[in-house]
Amino acid sequence: MKMVSACLAGIPCRYDGAHKENETLKKLVESGAAISLCPEMLGGLPTPRNPAEIVGGDGKDVWSGTAKVVDNLGADVTEIYKEGARKTLEQLRELGIEQIILKEKSPSCGACQIYDGTFSGELKKGVGVTAAYLQLHGLSVVSDEQFSSEK
Ligand code: SF4
Repeated sequence: MKMVSACLAGIPCRYDGAHKENETLKKLVESGAAISLCPEMLGGLPTPRNPAEIVGGDGKDVWSGTAKVVDNLGADVTEIYKEGARKTLEQLRELGIEQIILKEKSPSCGACQIYDGTFSGELKKGVGVTAAYLQLHGLSVVSDEQFSSEK
């Protein structure tokens, strides 16, 4: 059993109410070989919602307390993002899932790259808050882009 970011399975749970469907990953969910989760919605955020970026580092720095998640209006949403990560791990553990495919560039799900915290569209190397949390708990994550290039 695998877990994929819900927006990759075609669920319109992105901040802008859209999805980022990946046909292969959607089929995995439809066939029952994977489940889909959206950490930001698990944390309690609505869809649509304000876009957010990590300021001061990446997801690992959020967990060490040196970075925070801020939305485009300046609201600190760090605790909501952390709660979504905790709930995601809880569900993965309940189901014994260790194969995890996350949406690249997201402040929650990014596995290699995230936006740089300036809302300018610039990317930087780093992981999202949920990706970091799962890694800190011994799970390995791959991005949708890595998963596709492995095929
Ligand atoms: Fe997709 Fe993850 Fe963002 Fe939810 S938190 S919309 S699953 S990238």
